[in-house]
Amino acid sequence: MSLYCENCMKLVDAEVCPRCRNRKMRAPLPGDFCQVAEVPYMQAEMLKELFFDNDVLCTERSVLGAGLTAELGVNVGRVRLYVPYDRLEFAKELYDAYFCGAAEAAEQESGADPE
Ligand SMILES: [Zn+2]
Repeated sequence: MSLYCENCMKLVDAEVCPRCRNRKMRAPLPGDFCQVAEVPYMQAEMLKELFFDNDVLCTERSVLGAGLTAELGVNVGRVRLYVPYDRLEFAKELYDAYFCGAAEAAEQESGADPE
């Protein structure tokens, strides 16, 4: 099962975090904020609204430092979104439905009939 890195606020399938080399990995608790997505700033705004509408608590961190983001403009900024572990699966479903739903629907319409 996945372990939780407190430094990265992320679930990983490893005993040592591949990002920060943290060795004090532990099992996730229901209230642990876990990264659900890293998206451009504009998409983050839409996702936050989506999570809010579905009663999913959500917090965010800019990937770039705040100063750099301000210097380059918010449009180039990327944002990591985090939701509590017990809402992570639901949040991922919302994310997938939101960003993949349209593409999948188009694929099914143009795809060959399996029968
Ligand atoms: Zn880490």
